[in-house]
Amino acid sequence: MKHFGYELTDEETQIAEVAADLATRVVAPGAAERDRTGRFPAEILAELAKLGFLAMKVPAQDGGAGLSNVGYALAMQAIAKACASTAVVLASSNLTAKILAEHATGDQRTLLARYARGELGPGSFALTEARGGSDAAAIRTRATRDGDAWVLDGEKVWITSATHAGFHLVFARSDGDGKDGISCFLVERGTPGLTVGREEDKMGQRSSGTATLAFDGCRVPATNLVGRRGGGYGVALSALGGGRVGIAALSLGLAEAAYAAGVAYAAEREVFGKPLSAMQNTQFVLADSRTELDAAWLLMLRAARALDAGERAGAECSMAKLFATEACGRVVDRMLQLHGGYGYSREFPIERLYRDARVTRIYEGTSEIQRLVIAREILSSV
Ligand SMILES: Cc1cc2nc3c(=O)[nH]c(=O)nc-3n(C[C@H](O)[C@H](O)[C@H](O)COP(=O)(O)OP(=O)(O)OC[C@H]3O[C@@H](n4cnc5c(N)ncnc54)[C@H](O)[C@@H]3O)c2cc1C
Repeated sequence: MKHFGYELTDEETQIAEVAADLATRVVAPGAAERDRTGRFPAEILAELAKLGFLAMKVPAQDGGAGLSNVGYALAMQAIAKACASTAVVLASSNLTAKILAEHATGDQRTLLARYARGELGPGSFALTEARGGSDAAAIRTRATRDGDAWVLDGEKVWITSATHAGFHLVFARSDGDGKDGISCFLVERGTPGLTVGREEDKMGQRSSGTATLAFDGCRVPATNLVGRRGGGYGVALSALGGGRVGIAALSLGLAEAAYAAGVAYAAEREVFGKPLSAMQNTQFVLADSRTELDAAWLLMLRAARALDAGERAGAECSMAKLFATEACGRVVDRMLQLHGGYGYSREFPIERLYRDARVTRIYEGTSEIQRLVIAREILSSV
């Protein structure tokens, strides 16, 4: 798109170019095959880790890439254009990294440095439970203090990268004594009492290692509490705005891939003796899609710039996530329609993009939850 007054800095442009190059060379090859087999992109992550992609917003002194929210969003968009599964693994992993960068103390900082170097694979963000998705306050996983340890019991569901993560940030009720609410705990892979469950057989984003995490008397040192006791919500919220901008960027990258496939197909396919692109309907469909993609990009950029300026920007982040994910759904649907019957075949990438797109309206807060956040802000000033 032309930027007219919304130009990127030289550094931001460079980040987008580096990410696009990596996405083309390293991430795109095999994306269709990973979708078929569900194989986790472990080797690709190892490659991306070398360039700081697992810790994009972690400051350089902690071993991260020190990117701004704008830089992060541009990188995410480029990776998602190549493979949405890899992008969502990066999204949840970078969320955990950002939380640790802000709240980690002592040994947790050592773990963060090892993670940023790529020694631990991805991290996972474990909040959702069977009875507590949108209503995160309803979670029941318990953390009980026992001497110099916390003992976790309960189950998390739908956890991205659960199958391969080197550590998990787990949110649990630590209020056995009625004094506090939810706290965040760092649980390393292989901790006794932690079982990684069956991997979900999903519609799309099939190689993102989504699974349950079961905790049965899972004992972690008291020093694995992240942030203050009872401060779990604050810990989660501290990274949520940036996380939502990241999912807006992911949706945008995915939709751009679908749009490019639609434009190419419309130019090449002939119907009734003319290129499909000569039909006015096709032109209108492309015009509507380009307009929505540009609008989504602007909302994403506004939210990311606001976060970089130190604003909380909760409503702006939710607007970016809401609009970009819903526009993504409309664009992939239109582009599949342009492909006719071939769009319904696994031989064309649009079929995978269509399936990959659907979940963006569900995770990191559903569209309905984004609307609640936006409406709350509107009504708070009335
Ligand atoms: C592929 C995938 C990956 C995921 N990765 C992670 C992860 O890494 N970590 C993690 O913790 N979670 C993860 N999740 C979970 C995800 O965040 C939740 O699925 C999501 O928050 C919705 O929760 P739920 O599924 O319990 O739906 P529910 O909360 O039961 O919602 C059901 C429906 O009701 C609507 N609804 C709920 N409350 C309201 C309301 N107040 N007003 C109006 N409508 C409402 C919802 O929008 C939805 O349409 C993932 C999910 C998927 C599918």
